[in-house]
Amino acid sequence: MDLSGKNMSAAEVGEILGITPSSVRRLVREGVLEVKETKRYKAGEELYFDSSAVKDLLPRMPELRRKWHSEENRRLGARKAAFKRVDDAGKALRHTGIKKKFLFSLEFYPEKAALLLRASFFLYHLNHYAKGGEEYLYDLKEKVLKKFVSDFSAVEGLDIVFIEGGQKVLLCAGCRVKAQSMGLSYLKYKINHGGCPQCRKEEDYYSLFEFRVVYGEHRFCFHTPYYIARKWFENMAELPKKVREKGKEEALPFGRPISEGEARAVTLEEVIRELKSFLGD
Ligand SMILES: [Zn+2]
Repeated sequence: MDLSGKNMSAAEVGEILGITPSSVRRLVREGVLEVKETKRYKAGEELYFDSSAVKDLLPRMPELRRKWHSEENRRLGARKAAFKRVDDAGKALRHTGIKKKFLFSLEFYPEKAALLLRASFFLYHLNHYAKGGEEYLYDLKEKVLKKFVSDFSAVEGLDIVFIEGGQKVLLCAGCRVKAQSMGLSYLKYKINHGGCPQCRKEEDYYSLFEFRVVYGEHRFCFHTPYYIARKWFENMAELPKKVREKGKEEALPFGRPISEGEARAVTLEEVIRELKSFLGD
């Protein structure tokens, strides 16, 4: 990696310093590392740092780690903190094993199916990084799923389902007053009474596309909102449909944040590099 000139992304900083993106943010919070540039995306922003400042930090990392450990010891108690660190290291090792086994298994699959599975594996980890605070990654996720639609099909194990989630209702002033007088939250009011003709409605706001990749022993599942992906399809009517459960409309509970062990086994820098190479960047 080139350490001269250019600013470095948080993913690259993490790679060089051997820490997770959440620890990079911690360095910023603690005033150890200064943000040089922020790049805005539809969701979130990506932080950039001066590469020579990052290089200067490298010899200080053992000392910073010791400081973080003693803070963790104070917070959790020394015994519990030590146990947690051993547990994290074990999980990182186990996850590295899973990654190796997964990538090895692809050698026995047809080339194109292997390509889709490999991208799916890193996209799965991107999702967890995005949930863990790196929201700007959703931009890259969109590009990858768009390529899924244009370049792959059921032959490689890709299956796309349209999940009807219904419209979003923005209550008008009159309905908001009614909800308040009934002692109901706006969400409760909408579920029980719906909106009136004056309320603003956005069709298919809660609808989704579900991407399933199932091939051999592997399976992945991804979701993307209707309003983002609808333009990728020439003929929406051809897609199979499913209806989403009512009443859950305000929450999209998919995915979980990345764990420490997982983040060490599959670094953010690797995830970004792999997916950009999949896109041909
Ligand atoms: Zn209304």
